[in-house]
Amino acid sequence: MPVADQPPPSEDATPELLAELAEASQRLESAEPDEIIRWAVERYGSKLTMATAFGPEGCLILHWLASIAPETYVFNLETGYQFKETLELRERIRERYGLEVIYEYPETTVSAYEQAHGGPLYRSEPTRCCGDRKIAVIQRVLTRFDAWMSGIRRDQSPDRAVSPIVGWDKKFGVVKISPLANWTKARVWERIVSEDVPYNPLHDKGYVSIGCWPCTRAIAAGEDERAGRWSGSAKTECGLHLRD
Ligand code: SF4
Repeated sequence: MPVADQPPPSEDATPELLAELAEASQRLESAEPDEIIRWAVERYGSKLTMATAFGPEGCLILHWLASIAPETYVFNLETGYQFKETLELRERIRERYGLEVIYEYPETTVSAYEQAHGGPLYRSEPTRCCGDRKIAVIQRVLTRFDAWMSGIRRDQSPDRAVSPIVGWDKKFGVVKISPLANWTKARVWERIVSEDVPYNPLHDKGYVSIGCWPCTRAIAAGEDERAGRWSGSAKTECGLHLRD
């Protein structure tokens, strides 16, 4: 269906759209990630976007996207709490691929936010902090698009284990495409090394999953891949990839 004929984003997809997405997801299950990206670009055109926190998966998708559709709108949720190494990686990607990843900001700066709440919320109310500085921002951005692409993998966490390659993201009312859903961490890193894809140097210092600096720590050998995120609390996800 041409982009112009697609139904506008809404919280609920029609049965026809859900059937189409299920069929596409099944068909693409055995496709290479670059084929999935190509399909997404052909299917959604300028209504496709990508969100990246500059993890290894996101950097690898950008590597492919740079040759397939460099005009795609790619954004990063710049919470104001990201590591300087993450911000520098954005510049390295620009230099390497000519891709400009757009920063999307929350309503308030970090200092105004902390002043309004009597200090930072990342320890006392991390869910509220993620809600204000990530979820509200991505909600705002995704109203402009019909589909978004992310770098999640099924083996990252139980929440992500059931992620389809293509599916309806009810929370944001758009299609979600995960070209690396069925890849392993080892496979991602093999390709990053073989293609010399830029990556965050913190990965060489024991940081496996990297988000905002107050909520990220390096992990020890044998720890779960995401054990370094919101360490010491029950929180495991910022909410972007939680189902519904
Ligand atoms: Fe706030 Fe931490 Fe969430 Fe970043 S990851 S938005 S600092 S709670």
